[in-house]
Amino acid sequence: MTPDLPAFAAIVVAAGSGSRAGGAKQWRMLGGRPVVRWSVEALLAAGAADVVVVVSPGAEAQAAAALAGLPGWRTASGGATRADSVRNGLEALGGPDDRPVLIHDAARPMLGTAVIRRVIEGLNGADGALPGLPVADSLRLASDGVVSGAVERDSLWRAQTPQAFRLGTIVDAYAAWPAGEVAADEAAVVERAGGRVVIVEGDPRLMKLTFPEDFAMAEALIPRQTRVGQGFDAHRWGPGTSVWLCGVEIPHDQMLIGHSDADAGLHALTDAILGAMGDGDIGDHFPPTDPQWKGASSDRFLIHAVERLAARGGRLVNVDVTLICERPRVKPYRQAMRERLADLLSLPLDAVSVKATTTEAMGFTGRGEGLAAQAVATIELTGS
Ligand code: MG
Repeated sequence: MTPDLPAFAAIVVAAGSGSRAGGAKQWRMLGGRPVVRWSVEALLAAGAADVVVVVSPGAEAQAAAALAGLPGWRTASGGATRADSVRNGLEALGGPDDRPVLIHDAARPMLGTAVIRRVIEGLNGADGALPGLPVADSLRLASDGVVSGAVERDSLWRAQTPQAFRLGTIVDAYAAWPAGEVAADEAAVVERAGGRVVIVEGDPRLMKLTFPEDFAMAEALIPRQTRVGQGFDAHRWGPGTSVWLCGVEIPHDQMLIGHSDADAGLHALTDAILGAMGDGDIGDHFPPTDPQWKGASSDRFLIHAVERLAARGGRLVNVDVTLICERPRVKPYRQAMRERLADLLSLPLDAVSVKATTTEAMGFTGRGEGLAAQAVATIELTGS
C-alpha cells in the first residue's frame, strides 16, 4: 500500500479482440495468472479505491473468473472503439471532477507501483501525465525496403499507459473530441482540448502484448522465487501380490498397507510439493479418516498438489525421489516410474529422478517391516 498517494481510481481497458496476438490476450494466462489480473492487482496494491474493468459485452463472466477473489473492481461494457470503451468506463466510474483517474491497457500487464506513483505525481501542475520511454534505436524512413532518410529522434517518445488525468478534465476533453476521428490515446484527446500533458519516466517492462511472441518475453520478465520442499513417507508390508510405487504397479509377494493404495513414493512427493508451497501436508488435504480416499489411487493426491501450485502461479522445476527397501528390486522399474511421474507432472524426463537404496538390513526397512520414501521438489513461485 502507498498511503502517501492521493486517492485515485482506475479504468482498465480489456475490451479488445486481440487479433494480432492471436486471440483475446487479456484472458490468456501469463505466469499462471490471466493477463488482465496483473494490472488490476497492481492498481489495487498501489491503493486504487475503485477499478472499472471495461470488457466486451458478454465477457463479464470471463472477467469474474479472471479477477476472482480481488476486491474493489466492477465491469463496464466496451463500445465499438477504444474511445467509446473509455467513455463508458468514465461514465461507470463517476465521482468528483478533481478525482485522479488512471486509464490503462490490460495488454500491458507488467505494471509496477513506481510508474503508478509517477503518473499521479505528474498530475501536479499538469492536465495529464503519461509514462514514456525515449527512443534508443536510430530511426530511418524506408519504402519498399530501401532507406530513404533518417528521422531525428530526440523529441520522439514511446507512449505507454497508465495515463493519468483528473476525472473532469478527461470527461470534458472527450465531450469536445470531433466525432468520427480516431484518437491515438487519452493524452491525445486532452491535448486536442488544449490541455497540458507531461511525460514521466515509463518502464521497459510495461511492454504491450501485441504479437504472439510477446508472451514468451513477458513470461521471462516475471519475478520468480525458487523454493524447495521435502517429503517423507513409510508404509508397512502386508500380504499381497503387487505393490504401487511412484505410480507403477510392481508384481511382488507383499503389498504396502495403507488407507489409499499406499504408494509411499507418490505420498512423499506430494508432501514435497505441498511443503515447498507452505501448504500443509497430504493429510490436511486428504484426511485418512475420510472414507472417500479408501483404496484411492495416489495419482490424484499428486495431481491435486500440482493444481494447487498452478493456482498460485507456480511451476515445478524438478523432483527427486528415493525409495528405501530391501525388496522388491526397484531398478528394473525405475525408468517406467520416471516416465509415469514426468507424465503426471508435465515435466521433461531429465527433471524427474527416481533412486533406490537399501539400509543394509538395518532398521525397519532392513528387517523388511516396511518401505520408506523420501522426495525433494523444486518449485518457482511468481512474485518476489
Ligand atoms: Mg502414505
